[in-house]
Amino acid sequence: KRLILIGPPGSGKGTQSPMIKDDYCLCHLATGDMLRAAVAAKTPLGIKAKEAMDKGELVSDDLVVGIIDEAMKKPSCQKGFILDGFPRTVVQAQKLDEMLEKQGTKIDKVLNFAIDDSILEERITGRWIHPSSGRTYHTKFAPPKVPGLDDVGSFIWTDALPDPSIFITYANEALAQLAKVEALGLECPGSRLTMCRSLSFIVTGEPLIQRKDDTPAVLKSRLEAFHRQTEPVIDYYGSKGILANLPAEKPPKEVTSEVQKVLS
Ligand code: ADP
Ligand code: ADP
Ligand code: ADP
Repeated sequence: KRLILIGPPGSGKGTQSPMIKDDYCLCHLATGDMLRAAVAAKTPLGIKAKEAMDKGELVSDDLVVGIIDEAMKKPSCQKGFILDGFPRTVVQAQKLDEMLEKQGTKIDKVLNFAIDDSILEERITGRWIHPSSGRTYHTKFAPPKVPGLDDVGSFIWTDALPDPSIFITYANEALAQLAKVEALGLECPGSRLTMCRSLSFIVTGEPLIQRKDDTPAVLKSRLEAFHRQTEPVIDYYGSKGILANLPAEKPPKEVTSEVQKVLS
C-alpha cells in the first residue's frame, strides 16, 4: 500500500504510524523526522531547513521533494510506504504524483486526521519523544510504561534508572502472540517488538526529549501554515476520491480501529 497521513501538528500521525507500518510491512517516511535529523547533523540540507522549522514555517518544496524522492528508493519502501507530514502543499502533491507516475504507481489512500485546533495545544505541550525509536509519549494521554513504578513519567525523563543496562520484559501473552505471527510467516523487519506493543515494556533508561518547536507560540504558526498551505492538499485528494476522514480527537485505540476499517 502507498499511504499518506495528513493532519495538523499533534493530530496523532506519528502515534498511528507504527501500527499501520507493521500491519502492512510498509516503510515510514516522516519528513519532519528526516529534517530534524539533518538539522542535528548540521548537514547542508539541515542548515537550510533550520530557520523555517524554528519559526514553525514550512521549508521549501524543492528541499522536501528531494528528500522524499531519495527516501522512496530504499529497499524497505518497495512494498509500499506511509508518507507522514508530506505532501504539505499542493505543489508537493503534484510533484509526488509525477514521481509515482514515472514508476507506474500511485497513492492508494490519504488518511485525514481531522481534529479541532483547540485540542492540539495540550497534545503538543505534553509530547515527549524517545529519540532512538522515534516513539511518542504524552504526560497525560500516553505516559511511558515502567514496570513496578507508580511515578512513571518522572522516572523515565529524569533518567534515574536503578540499573543503566538495557532490559526487556515481554509479557507471556505477547510471546504467545509473537509465536503465532511467526508461525504464519507474517513477520516483517522491525515488527517484532511492536507486536508486543500493548503487553510489554522496554526500559532503555534513555531520557525522553521535548521538541524545540513544541511550544504554544510556534504551534500557532505551524497551525497557520497548516490551514493556509496544507488544507488545500486535502481537497486535492478529495477530488481524486481517495480521501478518508478519521475522527482524530478520539482516544488512540479508537483511531487505530478506524484506520484499520478504512484500510481493510
Ligand atoms: P503528530 O505526529 O500528528 O504531530 P503525535 O502522534 O506525535 O502527532 O501526537 C501528539 C501527542 O499527542 C503525543 O504526545 C501523543 O502521545 C499524543 N496523542 C496522539 N494521539 C492521541 C490521541 N488519539 N488522544 C490523545 N493523545 C494522543
Ligand atoms: P508535526 O509532527 O508536529 O506535524 P513535523 O515533524 O511533520 O511536525 O514537521 C516539523 C517541521 O518540519 C515543520 O514545521 C516544517 O518546518 C518542516 N516540514 C516537515 N515536513 C515538511 C514538508 N512536507 N514541507 C515543508 N516543511 C516540512
Ligand atoms: P520496533 O521498531 O520493532 O517497532 P520499538 O523500538 O518501536 O520497536 O519499540 C516497541 C515497543 O516498546 C513500543 O510499544 C514502545 O512503546 C516501547 N518502547 C520503546 N522504547 C521505549 C522506552 N524507552 N520506554 C518505554 N517503552 C518503550
